[in-house]
Amino acid sequence: MTRRAIVAGLDIINLDAARYECVYPECGGICCKHPRPAVESDEQQNLAASMDKILPRLRPEAQDYLSRNPFTTLRKKDGLPTLAVVDHWCVFFNGGCTLHTLGASEGDRWKYKPWRCIAFPLDRDQNGNWYVRQHGTNDEAWDLFCLNPAQSPKPARDTLGPEMAIIAKVEERYFSHKAVPAASSTLLRFDPAETVAPANNGDGAPTKCPAANI
Ligand code: SF4
Repeated sequence: MTRRAIVAGLDIINLDAARYECVYPECGGICCKHPRPAVESDEQQNLAASMDKILPRLRPEAQDYLSRNPFTTLRKKDGLPTLAVVDHWCVFFNGGCTLHTLGASEGDRWKYKPWRCIAFPLDRDQNGNWYVRQHGTNDEAWDLFCLNPAQSPKPARDTLGPEMAIIAKVEERYFSHKAVPAASSTLLRFDPAETVAPANNGDGAPTKCPAANI
């Protein structure tokens, strides 16, 4: 029987059973290879408005691609456009997430990053329930080693502090159907003081470069 856990007011259905440890950068940012995360409308606006700062950080082939194409594709997930992939990697990947490093250089590592990348491996299922993506849960099909609970003895509850802190904001902003402020340059601001469990990637430590979906 699946054990459930309430964290930050949200039910994360497999939190107590899940095992997860991000080993970025040792993994090379493999979750940004063929990731195609969906991006919300305000996230798209934020990226489009900041493209002059983002473009110089991208791989030459990604810059060339974006000179002829938008950064989203017609391929949809959750009813939303998804980020383009160039030569197997996310268009915004260049040895790491350029959206993460640009945001960090401006004092907010999550200023430009889609929430699905921030929250990974937390995700919502088709019924709107939050869960930890794991092999053996919700028909997980992505063969990332870090989604294999046998690869880590660490409880996800202990390693996903920042991610659990952000999903309450995600839930309110995108799924509560409440009125939200007009899109701002900072969509989801993470405050380390809001961390809800011990984390292995708090401020100052290397942070994963996560994607969201296959
Ligand atoms: S974290 Fe997300 S936006 Fe950044 S490179 Fe990876 S898939 Fe792309």
